[in-house]
Amino acid sequence: MSATLTIDWNRCQGHGVCLAAFRERLAADRWGYPKGIPTSGTLIPADEIGAARTAVATCPAAALRLT
Ligand code: SF4
Repeated sequence: MSATLTIDWNRCQGHGVCLAAFRERLAADRWGYPKGIPTSGTLIPADEIGAARTAVATCPAAALRLT
């Protein structure tokens, strides 16, 4: 099983909470925004879904979605 992580860039405020929760995929760009998520979404393998869920749950702007 895999999932897709997408980000709503209109909501993201660069808090960076997701970066700590999902280090396997996300890193900060020079402004502190996550640079690991293309607008079209990125495929998350089964063994990383737990961390992806944590990132989604902890984002204070509700900018991340896992489908
Ligand atoms: S925690 Fe949410 S608002 Fe903050 S950088 Fe990550 S996606 Fe953006």
